[in-house]
Amino acid sequence: MAKHQFQTEIGQLLKLMTHSLYSNKEIFIRELISNSSDAIDKFNYMKLTDEKFKEEEWIGQININIDDKDNSLTIADNGLGMNEEDLINHLGTIAKSGTKSFVESLTGDAKKDSNLIGQFGVGFYSVFMVAEQVDVITKKAGEEQAYMFSTDGTGEFEIKPVTKEEHGTVVYIKLKEEEKEFLSKWKVAEVVKKYSNHIAYPITMHYWEDETTGEGDDATTKKVKKSEQANAATALWTVQKSNLKKEDYIEFYKGLAHGDDEPLTYLHNKVEGANEFTTLFYIPKTAPMDLYRADYQSGVKLYVKRVFITDDDKELLPTYLRFVKGIIDSEDLPLNVSRELLQSNKILANIKQSSTKRILKAIKKLKDDDAVTFTKQYNKVIKEGIFQDHTNKELLLEIVKYKSSTEEGMVSFEDYISRGDSEKKEIYYIAGEDEKVLRNSPLLEAYKKANIEVLIMDDKEIDEIVTPSIGQYKEWSLKDITTVDAPDSKTEEEKEVISKEFKSLTDKIKEILGEEVKEVKTTSRLTTSPSCVVKDANDPMAGMAHMFAQMGQEMPETPLILEVNPEHAMIQKLDKLENQDTFADMAWILLDSAKLSEGLEPKDKSAFASRVAKVATLAL
Ligand code: ADP
Ligand code: MG
Repeated sequence: MAKHQFQTEIGQLLKLMTHSLYSNKEIFIRELISNSSDAIDKFNYMKLTDEKFKEEEWIGQININIDDKDNSLTIADNGLGMNEEDLINHLGTIAKSGTKSFVESLTGDAKKDSNLIGQFGVGFYSVFMVAEQVDVITKKAGEEQAYMFSTDGTGEFEIKPVTKEEHGTVVYIKLKEEEKEFLSKWKVAEVVKKYSNHIAYPITMHYWEDETTGEGDDATTKKVKKSEQANAATALWTVQKSNLKKEDYIEFYKGLAHGDDEPLTYLHNKVEGANEFTTLFYIPKTAPMDLYRADYQSGVKLYVKRVFITDDDKELLPTYLRFVKGIIDSEDLPLNVSRELLQSNKILANIKQSSTKRILKAIKKLKDDDAVTFTKQYNKVIKEGIFQDHTNKELLLEIVKYKSSTEEGMVSFEDYISRGDSEKKEIYYIAGEDEKVLRNSPLLEAYKKANIEVLIMDDKEIDEIVTPSIGQYKEWSLKDITTVDAPDSKTEEEKEVISKEFKSLTDKIKEILGEEVKEVKTTSRLTTSPSCVVKDANDPMAGMAHMFAQMGQEMPETPLILEVNPEHAMIQKLDKLENQDTFADMAWILLDSAKLSEGLEPKDKSAFASRVAKVATLAL
């Protein structure tokens, strides 16, 4: 007999469970059944692919034994089972990144934590909401020795060898005094029906019932054992859509996601033709915590003719759809398809492509609050998609949304072009890291004045790379306002006159700033600011950030152009300024403050500060 310590994180989890912060205790039945079903899935696959098990007469099944005399509930399966190592690794440790980040995110605040559990579900450990003592008796298929794992859920567990005939797992639960309701056959039946009705294997309840024989004085009552199947035992996705209600889909999702949240939307399709397959996909209301982790868990399970193949293939959908949960069941893939070969499989590639289209169309159809929720949770990954998935670029561009200089909330390209200038067909945007900096950029002044909408793109490190790769949306060209001429009412001739008038000024500033700027010129794009910096539209590097990102390289710096506003008093006074020292200070201040307005760093911050102090002192 060996005593073990639970991993620290599990200790935390157990505490949370035993103090049952979670109001919905009944879900432990769902979680244990789901584990049994997974284990049967796994053995089912082995039986079909491994010579060793081919001959075995076996039908996957789950049995629930209710013993009201003993105050216990037993959930048993004839699935894959576990050996000693499995027990330590799977029940004594948290391996999954999802569960781990769940535990890491626990706050100690009871209310917040119980909400979190709702989102995550914690599998096996949920049993400690109701259990005083748990024994897991299990034997792994193909092995001789069976083991018993015992714990009272207070930090330690024990493993000892036992004997058991069949492979599979029995979870014996000694219920806490106050959890007797789970000894009612009616209660158990209700919970099974609610969450596990469409588990693919039969779930049979065994319970004692009083039975009276004889009549009057001869009547004797004794307890007899009864059995009853509690679920429909058909995999949900194989049921005709018309025979399913929204609630069926939602309950199935809760099992799949091990949580209590409803999905944002779901789509169920049976595809016939050259390739036959069924898909059932869900989009969660909140993005999984590991969405941006490299070791995220795939949410899609692959089945072949109802036989579970894998839930660990990240290629079943494009990576940017990694938030989707659900099932793909193919009729055409060979059962013994090797998991390694899946990725190069043509049938699967075809399923992936048509599933992707279908999911994107479902997203496009989301309305009102649901659409808002989707954007809030997943806009960034959609942008990843725009960058990665050229086949579906159009659809993705109809889904992605941005902030706007003229509208509240988030707008789509479609919204934009419905308001834009349909002669010019241009979509203006400014991209950077900080919404406030972008909104206050002097470059926006001319657009504000001309009443032209500009998209504000502030998804750090994403927009600046992704947006230039878009190029066009429905014949409308995307224009970065830091590189294009601003809208204004002046003619080319008028601009020419002004430029000549201030030529000696701009030349002099350029001389002082030297290589820091490519050019200094007058502009009509500003109203309240004296100067701004823009990228050189003719520079071959402008707008190529996405290409550098694709090659995994840093973007080389593009030279800036300093533009000054000839209508601004500061520029007009500067033009007439005699003091050459102050002129030089002002030239640098014009450049550095224009850079700051765009969220760029001045070349020399302390020099900038001392120049400002110098000039300000003079002004006082
Ligand atoms: P999850 O099911 O999400 O992996 P659980 O906490 O429910 O998380 O279970 C942890 C692991 O314990 C499972 O992944 C599985 O390897 C193992 N396990 C639990 N119950 C069973 C069972 N009835 N048969 C075989 N293995 C099981
Ligand atoms: Mg589980």
